[in-house]
Amino acid sequence: MILMDDYLKRLRRAADLEGLAAIVKSCQRCSLRGGCSQVVFGEGNPDAKLLLCGEGPGADEDRLGRPFVGRAGQLLDQILAACGFQRFEHVFILNVVKCRPPGNRTPNAEEIRACLPNLRMQVHLLKPKIMVLLGSCAAQTILKTEDGISRLRGRWFQKGNIWFMPTYHPAALFHRPQLKKDVWDDFQQVVAKYRELIDSEHTFPHG
Ligand code: SF4
Repeated sequence: MILMDDYLKRLRRAADLEGLAAIVKSCQRCSLRGGCSQVVFGEGNPDAKLLLCGEGPGADEDRLGRPFVGRAGQLLDQILAACGFQRFEHVFILNVVKCRPPGNRTPNAEEIRACLPNLRMQVHLLKPKIMVLLGSCAAQTILKTEDGISRLRGRWFQKGNIWFMPTYHPAALFHRPQLKKDVWDDFQQVVAKYRELIDSEHTFPHG
């Protein structure tokens, strides 16, 4: 318990994203750390006001220490590019849990709870205006609801200064390609909100 408190104290003292990354990379607050090769903090432009949040690292992410670099990540990059967004310019990408769950299972409630202070501090320092919640885990955790993603997607939720858009996780599109239109529609709403709140001159190939 004392160790846990010490960790939270260190977390709260992080002055910038770089300092926070160094602390989170030392995190051992749940058992996921024992089964993964490294903590995947997230990446992108630290000044971006558009944040994308997924569930947790998969095998490729665990190996490379970067979020969304496998097949689903490549699809996400394509969706972003079609919206005029580049990974290291317009967005910052992270996950609810920073360590890979064994066999890519969904993180359980205890693991999510243990990692939440890390996510909260990331959001605190990044100060996004828009967050895209990719999949049920991110949407349910951040919106504090048990509703499934098919109910949540495509609607804006606002908390404080942040607008949240839940949509399907890109990995879901491999099994259910019929969801692609919904994801595209959701990202069109994100582009519109981005123009409204962040950059009125944002252009994208299909708009
Ligand atoms: S998943 Fe999160 S809480 Fe668990 S060890 Fe990794 S960084 Fe820490």
